[in-house]
Amino acid sequence: MSQVSHRLDGNVAAGPLATLFAFDITTTRCTCATCGAAALFAEYHAYTDAPGTVVRCPRCEGVLVRLAETPGHLCVDLRGARLVDVADSDGAT
Ligand SMILES: [Zn+2]
Repeated sequence: MSQVSHRLDGNVAAGPLATLFAFDITTTRCTCATCGAAALFAEYHAYTDAPGTVVRCPRCEGVLVRLAETPGHLCVDLRGARLVDVADSDGAT
């Protein structure tokens, strides 16, 4: 990616995704489907200057998550996440 603008961390995507998931996605460990690297969701890079929000892998720039909000709808594309690992509420996996 040659142009970096308005890049934030994955925390910016947590608000809209809280509608979909019953857990705090920022604490999940996600595996990138493109390169296989795993990291906490909050460590991924979020770009909010596209139509919707795009969350990219900091290692390979592969797209992990795309999300778009329209009135009454939240559309999420998770195909770039090979695995989303949610720890039990007591922290055990
Ligand atoms: Zn990657």
